Amino acid sequence: MSINIALDGPSGAGKSTIAKAIAAKFGYIYVDTGALYRTVALYMLRNGVDVSDAEQVSAKLDGLSVKLAYSDGTQRVLLNGEDVSDLIRTPEISMGASAVSAVPEVRKFLFDTQKTIAAENNIIMDGRDIGTVVLPDAQVKIFLTASAEERARRRFAELSEKGDPSTYEEVLADIIQRDHNDSHRETAPLKKADDAVEVDSTELSLEQVVEKISDIITEKTAVKKSQRELIPLRPVEKGKPIKFKVKVFYRLVRWFLTGVYKVWYNTKFVGKENCPKDGGNIFVSNHRSYADPVLVSLPVVVPCSFMAKEELFQGNVLFKWLISYLGAFPVQRGKGDSSAIDRSIEELNKGRNLLIFPEGTRSKDGTVGKIRSGAALIGIVAQTPVIPCAICFKNKLRFRRKIIVAYGKPIIPADIGAIDTSPKSIKILRTKISEEINRLVDENVNKL
Ligand code: C5P
Repeated sequence: MSINIALDGPSGAGKSTIAKAIAAKFGYIYVDTGALYRTVALYMLRNGVDVSDAEQVSAKLDGLSVKLAYSDGTQRVLLNGEDVSDLIRTPEISMGASAVSAVPEVRKFLFDTQKTIAAENNIIMDGRDIGTVVLPDAQVKIFLTASAEERARRRFAELSEKGDPSTYEEVLADIIQRDHNDSHRETAPLKKADDAVEVDSTELSLEQVVEKISDIITEKTAVKKSQRELIPLRPVEKGKPIKFKVKVFYRLVRWFLTGVYKVWYNTKFVGKENCPKDGGNIFVSNHRSYADPVLVSLPVVVPCSFMAKEELFQGNVLFKWLISYLGAFPVQRGKGDSSAIDRSIEELNKGRNLLIFPEGTRSKDGTVGKIRSGAALIGIVAQTPVIPCAICFKNKLRFRRKIIVAYGKPIIPADIGAIDTSPKSIKILRTKISEEINRLVDENVNKL
């Protein structure tokens, strides 16, 4: 489930600045819902619609499409395909947005856009009704306020910098008017959600507000994590025989590829004695090239299954048959842990081994990237030995390039305290996997 943070509050409380800082700090997407209402207002004003006339506004919604797009983590808003992100920041549009946002049809019209983006991403979303209406189940809800005078002072400084001629008094009057509109409208009025934490930023610096909100997020999401149910363990049955014809086919392919790889590359295997002779084990390796699944599996007697990008299964039928027969199975990215765990345990229970590249992507320069938790989680659920491996070669793979593939001693999850799927246990096994792969790489790169 994605993490949703709802940040509501009156105009000028600093929501967008704070939300941007939090998004950058936590790696979330910042969704500025005000921009959606502003875009509707721009469209209405461009088309000569009286924004205070709800009927006229709703009648005009038919010809309108508002979409959010993200480039380099920055939100852009598209009005019928036109990027209007910079055109919607004027006082006239602010007032227009306040007016159109009171029209129930407009709120309904923008509801799905907001819901969809929150369901698919970790986000911090700012607005007026996020905690109460749009994301009532958000894990964290913040209500950010500041006195009207302080908010006017900040907005005035911002507008003056952009060369806007509005005076402080005008800005203050605007803010008071918008506060009144937003909190007195019938549909989704600005209101603190019962379970929101109120943060008053009047006397705080930007850094202090960010720190305060960061603490709230860390605390709330940590509590949620520890409340998460543990996944039941499903220890694999070791020693299950695999189908005879699969075994014969695999032997033939392995024999053939060993020859090809010997001729084509200058491959050396180190620590082969650490590869168990039976199935039901997990091999975890650093990831350097497309040849990796073959390289790691060559000395492994029992066939390895491995996760592969779903796209590889959508092309050529013969290729799909071949990779499936050799043990590849598709993993849908973004589908969450459970489908990958189920499929992995299934493969291990068929008597096969499982090969995982826990960095997720290939490393071009040979340095080992961050090890993700998935492999550790599967190792714990399966309670089966995890064999660390390292693939070492200089630069790119090419003809007669020297390659060392090294295997470390099997790690038994329960022996090192990885006994359940709590974050603590997962961290223990993930750290051990990372240490062992790094150690094997360091030991062997010097021998190239
Ligand atoms: O946040 P921003 O000032 O860009 O929002 C412009 C206007 O859009 C606000 O004054 C408010 O009336 C409206 N709005 C809303 N609900 C939201 C976001 C903005 O009603 N979730």
